[in-house]
Amino acid sequence: MSGYSLMIHGGAGVIRNPERFEPSLHRIVSAGADLLERGGTARDAVSLCVTLLEDDPLYNAGFGSVLNADGVAECDAAIMDGRDLSAGAVAGVGRIKNPILAARTVMENSAHVFLIGAGAEAFARRNNVEMVPESYFQTPERLADLARAKARNETALDHVASQGAPSAKKLGTVGAVARDRAGNLAAATSTGGMTNKLPGRVGDSPVIGAGVFADNASCAVSCTGVGEHFLRTSLARTVGFLIEDLGLETQAATDEAIRRLVEKVSGVGALIVVGRDGVCARAQSTPGLLTASARDGVINVKTA
Ligand code: ASP
Repeated sequence: MSGYSLMIHGGAGVIRNPERFEPSLHRIVSAGADLLERGGTARDAVSLCVTLLEDDPLYNAGFGSVLNADGVAECDAAIMDGRDLSAGAVAGVGRIKNPILAARTVMENSAHVFLIGAGAEAFARRNNVEMVPESYFQTPERLADLARAKARNETALDHVASQGAPSAKKLGTVGAVARDRAGNLAAATSTGGMTNKLPGRVGDSPVIGAGVFADNASCAVSCTGVGEHFLRTSLARTVGFLIEDLGLETQAATDEAIRRLVEKVSGVGALIVVGRDGVCARAQSTPGLLTASARDGVINVKTA
């Protein structure tokens, strides 16, 4: 048995008071590291970490999800296991407490990869995934964010305002990537998307190969940023290609992916990667990126 690696993110952008995220990132990466330390699987570690991130209102996922133009949450999430490329995803769900657990249930209990909207919610309910009323997500903070976005007539990504200027706030899609002691890789990503988004809009987070990817032959990847940019560049899959097919090292492939994102679509965002070699890597085109990593007992929290 070799060592383990784990990295989580809480989104990217202009991060005000980054120190307020530190205790949460530390607590959540430690929980995942404990699981991997005891011989748990990468699949369990990423789904545990993303569930804990979803339950923390600091982040734009699960409980903290932002609201769309109709004032309801439409959450997206996906998980992928690099051992056999099994994957599960949900999009546009507004009644599931932990969308990542619904995505995992799609992976494990259905013949499909991707379910959306009412069908995804009905499937989750049938499989005993915890449901909540729409009002669970309509917190005073998120209602105020929506009112502000509507007053400014903007569709505010949590990272940047629609014109590309830095927004005052940073909320944060979440994700996790892991390599367990058996050498298996897994990745998971979850988000509420963007405040005041058009109902029905889906970003990169639940799209396999765009916002999430895992393959034991290369790496596990979770992205955050302007979803449209990551969708147009298949960014998460690109990192796997750079490692498996072009032979780049993990950090070099991660840097190259961001370079391509910027070069091709002036992309705004960031990604975290765990390579098949166990190296934890991150790269960003945003001013800030919240991450925490754990490699064989050594924890490293970064809030810039
Ligand atoms: N990528 C997410 C989306 O476009 C947003 C984020 O990362 O905060 O839905």
